[in-house]
Amino acid sequence: MKVLKFGGTSVGSATRMKSVFNIINNGEKKIVVLSAMSGTTNSLLEIAAYLYKKNPDAAVELINTLELKYFRTIEDLYDTKEYKAKAMDDLKHHFDYIRSFTKKLFTLFEEKAIVAQGELMSTMLFSHYLNEQGLRAVLLPALEFMRVNKNAEPETQYLREHLLPMLEANKDADIFVTQGFICLNAYGEIDNLTRGGSDYSASLIGAAIAAEEIQIWTDIDGMHNNDPRVVEKTSPVSFLSFDEAAELAYFGAKILHPTCILPAKLAKIPVRLLNTMQPEAQGTLISNKTEMHKIKAVAAKENITAIKIKSGRMLLAYGFLRRVFEIFESYQTPVDMICTSEVGVSMTIDNDKHLNEILDELKKIGTVSVDKNMVIICVVGDLDWENIGFESRVIDAVKDIPVRMISYGGSNHNISLLVKDEDKLRTLRSLSDYLFNNEA
Ligand code: ASP
Ligand code: MG
Repeated sequence: MKVLKFGGTSVGSATRMKSVFNIINNGEKKIVVLSAMSGTTNSLLEIAAYLYKKNPDAAVELINTLELKYFRTIEDLYDTKEYKAKAMDDLKHHFDYIRSFTKKLFTLFEEKAIVAQGELMSTMLFSHYLNEQGLRAVLLPALEFMRVNKNAEPETQYLREHLLPMLEANKDADIFVTQGFICLNAYGEIDNLTRGGSDYSASLIGAAIAAEEIQIWTDIDGMHNNDPRVVEKTSPVSFLSFDEAAELAYFGAKILHPTCILPAKLAKIPVRLLNTMQPEAQGTLISNKTEMHKIKAVAAKENITAIKIKSGRMLLAYGFLRRVFEIFESYQTPVDMICTSEVGVSMTIDNDKHLNEILDELKKIGTVSVDKNMVIICVVGDLDWENIGFESRVIDAVKDIPVRMISYGGSNHNISLLVKDEDKLRTLRSLSDYLFNNEA
């Protein structure tokens, strides 16, 4: 069985939901994981923020506006009075529930309960629609099988133990529909897998049922080989390995939530990225297979701070790097890129909340300098060191650009360059020309 996840824009209106129906209505039994309709999670968070601030009037106003959007969706989605009435009835329960919080004490727990209504409503609407269209759709309540432990890590054993019997008990279903994103926590309260977490839900569910494939449907035709918003002539990457996809996910390749990759990788389940607006497009297939000897994609991550520490004490010494990294660790700041020489080391961080404290500590062991507003540009592909020619093409592409750091050899899949923010665009464009468009 396949698991198909549709994001907020893919279910963002009655029309979009009908397109999803056309995609999934092919006679194959499947599990469909949905996000909340686009804009809903943000609205619910805004409502919660007003309730925190003890401004129920503003919250009620937003609740009314959101409710109108759902009324319209119901009006447009269903053909029959019967299903309009069913959906209206269910919707009333959700909005009564949301409104009930305007009179109560409001804490983080209540916020999570409110935010969960987005996925609960989209799946309710969609499963009624499938039933109206004559399919046997079964709604699987994610809160009955998705749970995280005290460290907010999903409980995969619990997931399997609770989900598999539900599938077994509904053998004659045509399609299963369930909520992405939401879960219970270790205390049995409503919680979620953090923003954008529906991909993660799909991947966890796919791994739990040993799915044939996990499909992530969004509004772009797969992962592109460069940022299509700022670079011309980008194209979708047809095949990526899990390792390549993991490298790209950190670098803000926005279509796939980074955590999504791991469960699928461990369970060896291929993940296909597809486009709801263009269902026939090939998209991107992430699997254990990859095309060898090929550079796949370029991505960038902004707001990077580079820190250099130089010390005579580093020469021929051991334990120096440990002391440096312990400082970052004690301020819970992840280090991303690293380059070392015999007497110095440069590192980058993307979270400079504790930058000043870190610098104070580093200054006790060496001379420190900082470069802010930098960008990591990463080139991902089959970059095994035994391959030849790839590093030189990357370096050639940046021959006119000042490069602060270069990191290569950390994995078989990545070359990272650190450049100034103002050089980001020309670096991305030049790399595309040199690596993909053969213009240089
Ligand atoms: N609805 C949630 C969000 O907007 C989860 C998701 O869409 O993946 O973050
Ligand atoms: Mg080489």
